[in-house]
Amino acid sequence: MAELTPGVACALSPLVRRVLAPNPGVMTGPGTNTYLIGIDEVAVIDPGPDDEGHLDTIAACGGDRIRWILVTHTHLDHSPGAAGLKARTGAPVLGFEARDEFTPDETIGEGFCLEATEFRLRAVHTPGHASNHLCYLLDQERMLFSGDHIMQGSTVVIAPPDGDMAAYLDALLRLKTMRIRSIAPGHGHLIEDPKAKIDEYLTHRGERERAILAAVEGGAGTVDAVVERVYVDVPEALHPIARHSVYAHLLKLSSEGKVQGVDLDGEWSPAAR
Ligand SMILES: [Zn+2]
Repeated sequence: MAELTPGVACALSPLVRRVLAPNPGVMTGPGTNTYLIGIDEVAVIDPGPDDEGHLDTIAACGGDRIRWILVTHTHLDHSPGAAGLKARTGAPVLGFEARDEFTPDETIGEGFCLEATEFRLRAVHTPGHASNHLCYLLDQERMLFSGDHIMQGSTVVIAPPDGDMAAYLDALLRLKTMRIRSIAPGHGHLIEDPKAKIDEYLTHRGERERAILAAVEGGAGTVDAVVERVYVDVPEALHPIARHSVYAHLLKLSSEGKVQGVDLDGEWSPAAR
C-alpha cells in the first residue's frame, strides 16, 4: 500500500496523485489527503488546511498545470488552503457554496461535470457529514473522491444541525448504485473494495440505530445516557464526539415517529404508542 507521508507526492493511478497534509489528529487520522488529477491539465481536490509548506508542495507537484481547485466541503481541514493555492496558481476555486470563510469563484452542485483534455470529473451531492458536501467521480478510472463522506481508518461524524443522518444514509445508498472501482477518501488509504466498504458503513449505522432505539426504550432518557450504554466499544475520550452521532440518530428516529425529544441536551423517550 502506498505510504501516507506528509509532503511527498504519491502516484495512485495513471491520472491521480496524492499529497498528505501535515495535520494528523483524532478527526483527521493521518491528515487530510489532497488529490491532483491529470497530468497536462490538473484539478486539485481539497487543498486542505492553510499550510504554507503543504500548499507549496501541491503547487510544485502540479507545476504550472493546475487549472481548477475543487473542495469536497467547507470544513477547516479541507477548504482553507483554497485561497493560498489560488494565489500561487491563479486557478479558479469551485465548491458547493460560500461558507466558513470559503469563497468559491464558481458554485457547483449535483451533476456538475468538469471536462479536461484527459479526464472528466462529475460532482455528486452527498449531504450528511456536511450539507455542502460533494464527492467527485473520475470517469476514466471510476475512482470516487469521497471527502469525509467515506473515510479509511476513522469514523465519519454526523453532527446536527448541519449534519443529517437520514441524508447521510440516503447518499450512501445512492453511491452504492454507482459503478465505482475505488474510493480515494479525504483521510486514510485508497479503498479498493468500495461496495464492501459502503455495506460495512450501512451495517454499522443500522446496528447503532437499533442499539440507540433499544437504549431509549430501555430507559436511557438523555443523549449522554444513550452514549454510555451504546458506545461501550469506543474509548471514553471519544464520547463527546459520539454524542453528536447519537443525537443525529435520535433526530432520524424522531422523524420516523419512533422516539420523541428535541435537542442535544434535553430529554428523550420512546414515542407514545
Ligand atoms: Zn476531514
